[in-house]
Amino acid sequence: MVLDTFQRPLRNLRLSVTDRCNLRCQYCMPEAEYAWLPKQDVLTFEEIDRLVGLFVGLGVDKLRLTGGEPLLRTNLPALVTALARHTTVRDLAMTTNGILLGPFAAALNAAGLKRVTVSLDTLQRERFTKMTRQDELVRTLAGIDTAAQTFPGFKLDTVVIRGVNDDEIVDLVHFARRHGGEIRFIEYMDVGGATGWTAAQVVSRAEILERIADAFGPIAPAEKETAAPADRFRLPDGTPFGVIASTTAPFCRDCDRARLTADGVLYTCLYATRGLDLRAPLRGGASDDEIRALITGTWTARADRGAEMRLGVPDRRPLIPVSTLKRNPHLEMHTRGG
Ligand code: SAM
Ligand code: SF4
Ligand code: SF4
Repeated sequence: MVLDTFQRPLRNLRLSVTDRCNLRCQYCMPEAEYAWLPKQDVLTFEEIDRLVGLFVGLGVDKLRLTGGEPLLRTNLPALVTALARHTTVRDLAMTTNGILLGPFAAALNAAGLKRVTVSLDTLQRERFTKMTRQDELVRTLAGIDTAAQTFPGFKLDTVVIRGVNDDEIVDLVHFARRHGGEIRFIEYMDVGGATGWTAAQVVSRAEILERIADAFGPIAPAEKETAAPADRFRLPDGTPFGVIASTTAPFCRDCDRARLTADGVLYTCLYATRGLDLRAPLRGGASDDEIRALITGTWTARADRGAEMRLGVPDRRPLIPVSTLKRNPHLEMHTRGG
């Protein structure tokens, strides 16, 4: 097992399989234009699989496909088939906006995908269109119906933004309960890409819990999943839900997550401004040992605690100005995955 400078193991790898997306969520891709990764730089499935094999050899046993929108990547089930062959991986999951889940869920499940998380911020069609610039609530909800059948125990992720969708917290809890999914409310983060972020728009975990307790009655703490970012709770009827307090109470001390962009850059934190290019050695003929040494060297030197460091910043504004983002797509949330 490889440990970083805070003794955090490398256990969890998030694979961004594309930086493209069919939505333009206001907290992630609010701008009109984006600089995309050059197509020829995007790793092939064989290249991804080789890197995953090396990460798995170093102790990674949780893999999550993300993006951009992972379901835009052509023939994704073939990648899942390859990744599912790494038998020590105990969790193979995907985070998606759900739009294309209806047509792909069965093939992904057959290929070996175990779990899905669908992002859903509103149940109101006009609001969905306003929040994402696309009139896609109907297909998203159809995707969630499919997820409920194909991936029982699926999760829903909701980014809560004051004045935008915070009046739907209770409706979304009802919705998740009806569909047999576990909902997690995520505090709005000032990550790269969130160019419209303001502190006033963050609805804290405490406030989220208060609103749920007001509607459903006393909330009890529930068991936490190991190294998972969500604090879990139960409604009086036992229904579980989670809150990810990434902004007001970050969980950097337990963070075992590495992120690999679609073009093979390794990031050790959502807030990191620099990553390690693994594509160049991969395509330059480096041996497994050489690439493994690069990954190990980066992880053992890791001292990231990005969200905790942000707590100390007075007068917080968006992390990265638009002009800088436009020159470097790697700084975007949609490039390195959530
Ligand atoms: N497109 C897929 C989706 O939306 O589920 C996967 C990629 S998306 C970048 C992964 C997660 O990051 C989503 O659940 C999204 O809500 C979350 N996210 C993006 N920007 C965020 C922000 N500023 N604050 C909190 N969460 C954010
Ligand atoms: Fe929204 Fe996910 Fe696309 Fe970002 S990557 S714009 S969160 S759907
Ligand atoms: Fe991990 Fe960085 Fe997020 Fe902290 S801010 S939990 S170190 S990814």
